[in-house]
Amino acid sequence: MMNKDFFADASPGRVCRKCLLRDMPGQAYFESLENYIERLDSDLKVAPDVYERRLGLCRDCDNLMEGMCRICGCFVELRAVMKKNGCPKVHPEWYPENESGGQVP
Ligand code: SF4
Repeated sequence: MMNKDFFADASPGRVCRKCLLRDMPGQAYFESLENYIERLDSDLKVAPDVYERRLGLCRDCDNLMEGMCRICGCFVELRAVMKKNGCPKVHPEWYPENESGGQVP
């Protein structure tokens, strides 16, 4: 039977609940995702600083689990890079036009 703290331990061989894919051991899947993101049309993507700010919010979010958002089921590294995407929790800081934390339309 699995201990309830199994996923909370980030030691090698264990799954880190609060990690982005890029932070997990055995990064082959992330490298594939990263290559896919690199090939996306730059007009579709947010600026690098916006991307990192979004991912920082995901890292601090209780809904991040194994690189995936528990609300929408997306890998956050892919969701966060797209201009058209929002945070399903409606995190105002995800939106560059809402630097002040205003209401998201
Ligand atoms: S997309 Fe939003 S709700 Fe999902 S993990 Fe990131 S900050 Fe949390």
